[in-house]
Amino acid sequence: MTTAEDGESWDGLSEIGLHSDLRGIEENTVVVTLGASKTRAKALELAPQAHRLAAQVIARVEHELGDLLPPVACKAGCCFCCYHQVLISPPEAVLIGDFLEKHFSERQRQALAAKAQKNLELIAGKDLEAIVQIRPQLKCAFLQDNLCTIYAVRPMGCRAWSSKRAEQCEIGLAHGDPLAGIGGYIHRQKIAVDIHHGLLQGTKALGLESGYMDLAGGVNLLLQNNLANLIQRWLNGEEVFSPVMDYRV
Ligand code: SF4
Repeated sequence: MTTAEDGESWDGLSEIGLHSDLRGIEENTVVVTLGASKTRAKALELAPQAHRLAAQVIARVEHELGDLLPPVACKAGCCFCCYHQVLISPPEAVLIGDFLEKHFSERQRQALAAKAQKNLELIAGKDLEAIVQIRPQLKCAFLQDNLCTIYAVRPMGCRAWSSKRAEQCEIGLAHGDPLAGIGGYIHRQKIAVDIHHGLLQGTKALGLESGYMDLAGGVNLLLQNNLANLIQRWLNGEEVFSPVMDYRV
């Protein structure tokens, strides 16, 4: 079996007998979940379903690859990759918003809004190359004491990331580079990207605003609006995320 480290030529899913159309599977899941009733409860199921599918497929692939895979260096408290721009989708935004409403106090939400605003000002007008250069200043608004404060609902992009060389992550952060040379598991990213795209294809098929937004921008939008109202307007097909949407799908 070829490994993920072979990059583009890797075709591990079909090699181990898994359906390779992850986008289609996830798109169908979204349509079935939201198609019958567009409610807040149903909207909150979307991102966890996608995260769960990604975790299941990744676990299956890694079980099959077994000893062919060198161990990852990632562990609790290691957070060099949490200094970077993270992109999220509307289903992830509403999931995070719901989590903040339930688990963060008003004071914590205000502190979070200030951190998110600082990051937004840092990246304003910059392209990805320039954003990478300022990575040491771009501490994620959710990172506290080197731990993620929204770990249970963290975005797909964070879940898919991995590194085999923590020291390379540290060097990359210190020198403001795009985390090159860390030797992460490419298959995790490919699986996550496919499923995330399927999630957005599903919401788009239902006529909902779909695309990717900066995590800090999404957080600020969530904190400045009534969440229940924002979710309902999104479910009604309104473009509620347009002020912070970076890429439309
Ligand atoms: S959301 Fe959590 S895991 Fe993702 S970058 Fe922020 S602190 Fe790190």
